[in-house]
Amino acid sequence: MTLFTKIIRGEIPGDIIYQDEHVVAFRDIVPVAPVHVLIVPRDEIAGVASVPDHGQHERLLNAAKTVAEQEGLTSYRLVINQGEDAGQTVPHLHVHLIGGRALSWPPG
Ligand code: AMP
Repeated sequence: MTLFTKIIRGEIPGDIIYQDEHVVAFRDIVPVAPVHVLIVPRDEIAGVASVPDHGQHERLLNAAKTVAEQEGLTSYRLVINQGEDAGQTVPHLHVHLIGGRALSWPPG
């Protein structure tokens, strides 16, 4: 079971701020900005490269938009790290919603 599934199931603490039938969102434990939320499918999908159902993309992006509105953000960044070289550390698909400050580009 992944770390994020344990948070979703309430087996380890998580600051959950949104959930629906398919998706759960909770605050990142090491925030890189005033708002840093992880949007995670309930299904244990390893990463964006192994999404079995394209409806999943839509559900994740819709949830991200809803959470951004909930957080009062009009500017924000959505990030998915796929694989080790991209910095993925948790093998459970997640979208980072980052905002609340000016963000530089390009990312590192
Ligand atoms: P990634 O590096 O893209 O796989 O993102 C994983 C994210 O999970 C990192 O930003 C971590 O800070 C975050 N994280 C790790 N453990 C926890 C936790 N227990 N609760 C919330 N976020 C976590």
